[in-house]
Amino acid sequence: MGRIVDPEVEALCRMATETARSRGHDIDGWEPDRDSATTAATATCRRCGRAVHVRAEGALKGAAGTALTEPCGPREEGDSGF
Ligand SMILES: [Zn+2]
Repeated sequence: MGRIVDPEVEALCRMATETARSRGHDIDGWEPDRDSATTAATATCRRCGRAVHVRAEGALKGAAGTALTEPCGPREEGDSGF
């Protein structure tokens, strides 16, 4: 597991973890993004694999990812309504 050193990223991680948990996700193991070790990080849900990303680079600050917008559960890949 990587090391998150930027306090802004750390705060965003905590916030994003709370939001994802409110949707039932089990977020664990924040990893700093390889390209920008201290300003962005990614984590995934241990149950469904949905990801959440955070970034704190100047004005580019916030969290995104399906773990923040979709509830935890099996993904319906390939199920397009047949
Ligand atoms: Zn999940």
